[in-house]
Amino acid sequence: MEIIVGRHINGIFINDLEYLLDDDKEPMRFKSEEEATRFLKSKGVTDDEIYCMVFKKVVGKQDAYFMTDQPEVCRSCGARTEFQEDSNGMQFHTCMDPACRYEYVLVSEGESS
Ligand SMILES: [Zn+2]
Repeated sequence: MEIIVGRHINGIFINDLEYLLDDDKEPMRFKSEEEATRFLKSKGVTDDEIYCMVFKKVVGKQDAYFMTDQPEVCRSCGARTEFQEDSNGMQFHTCMDPACRYEYVLVSEGESS
């Protein structure tokens, strides 16, 4: 299990989450909340700011992608997917092709302001 770190845009809770990104512009992953907290503090983030952040668990080795405006199809084979959405709008997709069954996570990219 890994952790990705989200923050409500401009600190406003009704806004979408934006995620810490790595050099490849993919959500940055941590092995635990403790590791994420250490990283954030090393970047000068305060306890109050960390308190307002959302630590999302990414189950297993699931890959994470950004949502697009296009109908979602399997990022591996292009077949249709079924998904569940959690309260933060994060979608857990599973490929419906029995030969594939690729599982991955979609997160909203949010605004970059
Ligand atoms: Zn597939």
